[in-house]
Amino acid sequence: MSENPNPHWSARTLAAQALGRIDEATRAVVPPIHVTTTFIRDPDNQYRTGNIYGRPDNETVREAEAMIAALEGAPVAMVLGSGMSAATAVFLALAPGDHAIVPKVMYWALRNWIVTDAVQWGLKIDVVDTSDLDAVRAAIRPGETKLVWLETPANPLWTITDIRAVADIAHAAGARVAVDSTCATPLLTRPLEHGADIVMHAATKYLNGHSDVIAGALAAARDDAFWVRIKRVRSMLGQILGPLEAYLLIRGMRTVDLRVRAACANAMELALRLSNHAAVAEVLYPGLPTHPGHDIARRQMTGGFGGMLSIRVRGGEQAAIATAAKVQLWKRATSLGGVESLIEHRGSIEGPGSPCPMDLLRLSTGIEDVEDLYADLDQALRQA
Ligand SMILES: *Cc1c(COP(=O)(O)O)cnc(C)c1O
Repeated sequence: MSENPNPHWSARTLAAQALGRIDEATRAVVPPIHVTTTFIRDPDNQYRTGNIYGRPDNETVREAEAMIAALEGAPVAMVLGSGMSAATAVFLALAPGDHAIVPKVMYWALRNWIVTDAVQWGLKIDVVDTSDLDAVRAAIRPGETKLVWLETPANPLWTITDIRAVADIAHAAGARVAVDSTCATPLLTRPLEHGADIVMHAATKYLNGHSDVIAGALAAARDDAFWVRIKRVRSMLGQILGPLEAYLLIRGMRTVDLRVRAACANAMELALRLSNHAAVAEVLYPGLPTHPGHDIARRQMTGGFGGMLSIRVRGGEQAAIATAAKVQLWKRATSLGGVESLIEHRGSIEGPGSPCPMDLLRLSTGIEDVEDLYADLDQALRQA
């Protein structure tokens, strides 16, 4: 593979060309997909290429990783079999007995795993409102806290956390900061530039963008001992991404900038229009000045506030469920970050103990015509 890229080119340029890598053997503009699970050992018993076996070594996987590293401005990145495997690998790289802080508002399945399985495995966990810096300060145990996990904007209220401020608090106490940046995408926020140590993506969502690959990604500010431990978790637990999925992810990421910008523009327009809708009690979107995290989001996010918003339906839970039942264009489904718009009654999937209000509908805005998207929501809200 030809070595690349001019470091001065923007993330957008690098993504569009998949780093501009050319296959040396054929001069192909799109490199081949490497499917081999094993590599020839040299006659003198060496492995000169460094490639030995397909679980740790795959060139297509490395190409996807190089793209994510370029997008996040990171020296190292890693792709894994899902967003959950990426997130859990970070927690499993801690040691039993370590203390970690996680947000009250965060991706529900991960929170579930942390407060049950990770605790059983030996981590000490505090669940804290990370948008409240005093609460973070109070929860930190200097020397004992090893990780502060953040998500911003956070599912499904789009709570904003000030990454820089939390990183300063955490670092002073010897703790690392990891950020689930799935909804921000590297186009809107690069957490490492705000002091985070690790950034995580459900690459299933915006990075791939077409609702046809489950994948996860991590990028780190340093190739240090903790990164080596995370890599070991991936390799030993086999949390790898297959080369065909890695290829699809590379193809999806070529258009991530266009897709994210289109989704942001649609979400902003919908947030403004829905704020004036008689059937909507509240719109939760960090792009609205009324959102409690708006000022931090303006500093921390560039180019938009993301494609995710939520609405609280005035008629309550049953009206929210009825609204989701009446849409024709929006797809009634969980997940987010694809080119097609999705609507979800989030409380039905999160279940008891969740901070999600039961009158809330989560909207993942795609790249369709915003007039069609609004008209469909409007007719559904009127009928509910
Ligand atoms: C979907 C999602 C995850 C989990 O990713 P999977 O690929 O489904 O395992 C984690 N965090 C956020 C914010 C997500 O939206």
